[in-house]
Amino acid sequence: MTLTLEEVYRQGRQTLERAGVPDADFDSLLLTEHVFGADRTALILHGDRPADGELCRRFFSLIDERCTGRPLQYMIGKWNFMGFDFLVGEGVLIPRDDTEVACEAALELAGKMDAPRIIDLCSGSGAIAVTLGKLLPRAQVTALELSDEAFSYLEKNIELNGAKNVTPVKGDVASAYDDWEDGSFDLIVSNPPYIVTKQIDTLQRELAFEPRMALDGGEDGLYFYRIITKYWGTKLRKGGYLVYETGEDEHEPVRDDMAEHGFVDIGYKLDLQGYKRATFGRQTSLFEKRLDEKLFKPF
Ligand code: GLN
Repeated sequence: MTLTLEEVYRQGRQTLERAGVPDADFDSLLLTEHVFGADRTALILHGDRPADGELCRRFFSLIDERCTGRPLQYMIGKWNFMGFDFLVGEGVLIPRDDTEVACEAALELAGKMDAPRIIDLCSGSGAIAVTLGKLLPRAQVTALELSDEAFSYLEKNIELNGAKNVTPVKGDVASAYDDWEDGSFDLIVSNPPYIVTKQIDTLQRELAFEPRMALDGGEDGLYFYRIITKYWGTKLRKGGYLVYETGEDEHEPVRDDMAEHGFVDIGYKLDLQGYKRATFGRQTSLFEKRLDEKLFKPF
């Protein structure tokens, strides 16, 4: 029996609902669009048309995969972040709405500078780096990423968006800082791995499909913030900004560590759920002190 497009979409939704997939309606709709090229309007207008048998098999096999927890974004292979498309697949973290908070904070701060030098640490798909590069065409953006798989997505996404002012660099945030001189950047932005190791397996099952390396922030979730604040903080010029995405309940410890390392005017931005999702501050004393030490060094 041939199913109509509308029936296919409805059966997909019901199967997802029965499997306890949240947003079953949205997911079935996006998969209908992905497989049949039919968006909501097409469904309303042409929902009574018979659905191609081969495409139906593909659709229901994707629905079954989705029931196992595989993220929708990996099936579609592309996801939108702040108006730009990013290729995604196993091996790279999916860009999230939450990350817009830190990206917008970085945009506001760097938007006031002329031709800012920016580095995005733990860049992943390049969602933050590419968005900043596109929206701040005079900026020079460096995107640092360690994972081979994520790095290839980063390169493709720079290309896909024609972000000519974004340079991908392969490197480890825990050691690559020595490759840059002190004061090299006007703004550092990072959405580092920040989930507490022990909690990863207790969160949504979709996370199990994403690279652990992009999520695991160590025993207390703060490992990468400590590294970046301590070793990258001096790579900012005096008055430069450090902008983080911070996990739930991580703003306070990150703020305190930043304050200990010479950051002032430390602030935050809330996400839609009310978490302090972005933490940012201005570098002053460290680099100043360093200059003073040089000035007063006996010749
Ligand atoms: N925001 C992600 C999550 O909680 C975590 C991303 C990260 O560790 N940077 O699903």
